[in-house]
Amino acid sequence: MKNTLLKITNLFYPVTCSSCGDDLNSISQTRICGRCKSSLSLINGHICQKCGAPLSSGGEFCCACKKNPKQYAFDKMRSVYEYKGSVRKLILKFKYSNRTFLAKDFAVDMHEIVKNNDFYQESDFIISVPLNIIRKIKRGYNQSELLAEELSIKTNIPMLKNVLFRSKITKPQFKLSRTERFKNIKNSFFVKNKKVITGKNILLIDDIVTTSSTVSACSSVLKLCGAIKIFILTLARD
Ligand SMILES: [Zn+2]
Ligand SMILES: [Zn+2]
Repeated sequence: MKNTLLKITNLFYPVTCSSCGDDLNSISQTRICGRCKSSLSLINGHICQKCGAPLSSGGEFCCACKKNPKQYAFDKMRSVYEYKGSVRKLILKFKYSNRTFLAKDFAVDMHEIVKNNDFYQESDFIISVPLNIIRKIKRGYNQSELLAEELSIKTNIPMLKNVLFRSKITKPQFKLSRTERFKNIKNSFFVKNKKVITGKNILLIDDIVTTSSTVSACSSVLKLCGAIKIFILTLARD
């Protein structure tokens, strides 16, 4: 009886895997089927202790962090997936095709990283990397904010939405070289309500990290405004 009812509900409200399109149970909490979930490119080998870059031959830090330990304003960065294959396709759907419900699925794996990196003990607040207001209105949502909201629910670490803002309309970062990216993004964030973050540690959430220029610029302004430690957690690393 229960199965028949489920089949009827599925007929009217089909729930499918966002990756392969297979039918899922309509009461399913997840929108990625088990098979696709297990094929996602999790970063779980040796990584740089500072920036989280995969290190194929082991060691504590990547060459860039060894050479210039202060190049990034954040204290520690971790990412869940490598930005490739089905992860890339899923994130593109999440960002540009209104598949906002995927935030719940992604937050499950982000939560694992939080648990394994002392982010729980050390973070006072969660903040997401803001989108420029025009871009947010065009897209209808900020994907990093959705991830941060889900993570805040899972971890009980309170989220702050009235602190970090994006001012300038910067050129899309993917069109620029590494040096241009750091220049383009510098000074494009500002902080309101400084008092709230003074003396606090922040867990900053972003969707994809490429050169780390965005998260480093955010960390820099948050520290200038009184925050002590900044941890970065991104969904993927390109
Ligand atoms: Zn699937
Ligand atoms: Zn590194």
